[in-house]
Amino acid sequence: MPKKDPAQRVKKKTTERKPRPPRSLVQRKNTSLPISVFENVMKQFDTAAEKLHLDKSILNFIKVPRRCTIVNLPVKMDDGSHRMFTAYRVQHSIARGPAKGGIRFHPDVTLDEVQALASWMTWKCAVVNIPFGGGKGGIVCDPFKLSPSELERLTRRYAADCSDLFGPDSDVPAPDVGSGPQVMSWFMDTYSMRVGHSVPGVVTGKPPVLGGSRGRVEATGRGVVICVREAAKHLGKHLDSCTASVQGFGNVGSISARLLHELGVKVTHISDVHGAIHNPNGIDILNLIKYVEAKKTIVGFPDTEKIDPAKVLTAKVDILIPAALENQITKKNARQIKCKILAEGANGPTTPEADVILDKKGILVVPDILANAGGVTVSYFEWVQNRIGYFWSEEEVNRRLEEKMVTSFDDVMRVAIKHDVSMRIAAFMLAITRVVEVVQLRGIYA
Ligand code: NAD
Repeated sequence: MPKKDPAQRVKKKTTERKPRPPRSLVQRKNTSLPISVFENVMKQFDTAAEKLHLDKSILNFIKVPRRCTIVNLPVKMDDGSHRMFTAYRVQHSIARGPAKGGIRFHPDVTLDEVQALASWMTWKCAVVNIPFGGGKGGIVCDPFKLSPSELERLTRRYAADCSDLFGPDSDVPAPDVGSGPQVMSWFMDTYSMRVGHSVPGVVTGKPPVLGGSRGRVEATGRGVVICVREAAKHLGKHLDSCTASVQGFGNVGSISARLLHELGVKVTHISDVHGAIHNPNGIDILNLIKYVEAKKTIVGFPDTEKIDPAKVLTAKVDILIPAALENQITKKNARQIKCKILAEGANGPTTPEADVILDKKGILVVPDILANAGGVTVSYFEWVQNRIGYFWSEEEVNRRLEEKMVTSFDDVMRVAIKHDVSMRIAAFMLAITRVVEVVQLRGIYA
């Protein structure tokens, strides 16, 4: 628990009219606008860096993104018209290896968000000690409102316009919210056509027939659940007597729920973008997954009652897994959170102000840069398999993932205990130390 709370800010009075949420970090400053996720990462970084007493000039160098690219992409729509889409690629760091991070397809994507996600990738890859830096991409679009051929043209145009950035040794994208294996296949094909031969290692999260890794689809949820299991062990709790609540039922949420269920946890509350459901005796997860495949929502699932989605976060359960988007647990609802273990499947679901409140309440928060690092870990395995051209069995992938996650959880817990800080600050301390070590050896080419 930090002694001094740098996250506390004096709220400035403002007489300005409330403008529309702007897209840049600069515009967001000194306004009463929605929380800037990039400012959140900066605060997390500063709180951890303050405890490390490291060279200020190196800290200033590693804190900010290395390169932010904005492109406006013309895309031919099915009706013959052309539409413009704004897209981003941020390379936060390449100190420890190629920039690594997904591409988000979502109508609310902003440069601020992409910078934050790219930065978290740097720290995440360092926490699990894989040789990658951090990057992230985003395309402002609603992929559910595009036809498959429009989505393909948008993906290809993005890959082509940013092709100078990408490459297996420079910047390796992956799926994120709104994208998946098909988008990665188009991306890989576009890049490969430009260089004249197949380059599977330019993206991860591909289907296995194109060089994707077995176990990648489940990897993030599997990593989340390994962290929950280790956290429960730390608290002396038995999972088969625990209850859980999961926000978001996409890739991360549904797989986390399924694996928790397999370990005997009763998942009582679940939400998605359309609503939330509850069953005090435990929701039938396997059938819910089938239901969602058909109906595209959890709402209306038999043997559940529809509840206010806000209750999914504040439910009286042992385990809470936010697995949707950023800024879900804020100073407004943090006091109502009642779980014992909060494992962040999503990136950035908790604001720094909420973190302080959760810490005081004694909730064990397993931070995103550790809890959801299973995805990038298996992406790393995929990249390695692409480079050696030899593919591992699912058991082999899962065994290596298990080993990585347990080691990383223990590493972070050790720092947390040693410095008497939360697991989030400990994870940042560990990651910053690892990045600084590399930068010190390489030197700053200035
Ligand atoms: P996804 O698109 O598969 O699923 C997102 C889910 O969140 C959907 O069920 C959607 O309905 C739900 N959702 C959206 N807004 C919501 C809201 N306001 N309330 C409740 N539910 C809401 O995305 P995903 O891949 O599962 O990613 C989820 C989070 O996990 C994101 O923060 C992502 O960056 C992070 N993450 C994903 C991976 C990965 O491998 N997929 C890896 C690391 C981190």
